[in-house]
Amino acid sequence: MYQDDFPIGPLELLIFQSTSFCNLDCKYCYLPDRSSKKKINIDIIRNTLLKLVEEKIIQDDFCIVWHAGEPTVMPIDFYKKVNELIQEIIPSNVKVTQQIQTNATLLNDEWCEFFNESKMQVGVSIDGPKEINDKNRVLRNGKGTYEEIIKGINLLKKHNIEFSVISVLTNQSINFPADIYNFFKELGPISVGFNIDEEEGVNIKSSIDENSETKLKEFWRTIFQLQLTKSNYLNIREISEFKESLLNMNLSSKSISVGQMTNPLSIITIDTEGNFSTFSPELLGMKDKHYNDFLFGNINTDSFLSIKKNKKFNLVYDDINNGIKKCYDTCDYFTFCGGGAPSNKLYENGNFNTTETKYCKYSKKIIVDALMDEIEERLSIK
Ligand code: SF4
Repeated sequence: MYQDDFPIGPLELLIFQSTSFCNLDCKYCYLPDRSSKKKINIDIIRNTLLKLVEEKIIQDDFCIVWHAGEPTVMPIDFYKKVNELIQEIIPSNVKVTQQIQTNATLLNDEWCEFFNESKMQVGVSIDGPKEINDKNRVLRNGKGTYEEIIKGINLLKKHNIEFSVISVLTNQSINFPADIYNFFKELGPISVGFNIDEEEGVNIKSSIDENSETKLKEFWRTIFQLQLTKSNYLNIREISEFKESLLNMNLSSKSISVGQMTNPLSIITIDTEGNFSTFSPELLGMKDKHYNDFLFGNINTDSFLSIKKNKKFNLVYDDINNGIKKCYDTCDYFTFCGGGAPSNKLYENGNFNTTETKYCKYSKKIIVDALMDEIEERLSIK
């Protein structure tokens, strides 16, 4: 059944895969095409921006994210041309921010000068101290990348560029919460986000499983305790999100507020060929027996709004919504989560129309439990 009365957008995140290639070969990486040297053509960027304006999918602001592959494999001139296109096409009353998620190993002075000129926000992927980072963040020859990453971070610091960090947690690294916290406190990012080693894409087995649950909870309690220690504050993404959910919680009723990952075209992901997807960014490269793939059109031939009449999109959207309703009806953590990441439901449960995943257990539920335990103990409620 086709629908055309559901809310679309507005766009919050526009994720471009400028290249699927990555010069690293991290052991937990989910990207299937990270050896492919395909690069996006600038015409795909132009067509995307033109269609976003024509089809009124943007409102006051949105963020362009360069991700999924190592974006600094592309020449700086490519990003300079993108900046010109943004100036030319996007109305001046729309605020466009740009973020780049990089492994930092290819940075040089020229990149840093460009980041400063273009005000591009920089996120660096690093897992912690050398012994932890080099276990998984490795080159194709298996060599650790810690030194190269730190060299890149030192360049950012030399050019006074603020950076955030994403660190992947494995069953091994969660044994060392204090080492990891103190390392990042010393390193000086503006925030740290912890992603878990997830079963997704070509990463078919995560190191984090039911045997890690107690350790993982303890990891989060220690991180929270360290953050609460005087003069030791470090902005941790997951703790900030938890606090925001608590502050916005409606105690008298539970309401479904659809998140970025479950609202059509709030997130748009575009690959090197111009194919586009929405909902979870990870869906872009995924294949599936039932839905085949999650490409809902190509920017060179289709409008974004054509998804409304796209059979595959409608099937996916219905299943995602039904899964959210099930979560709403059955899960005590719904307020903190909003119904989960569709790509994890599909990958782990084989269907969007489902509830709990290992991902939500280890990335949402355990964190909420750990932080609530700590708060209750400090307030002597327990
Ligand atoms: S925590 Fe899991 S089960 Fe609960 S709402 Fe989120 S995705 Fe659904």
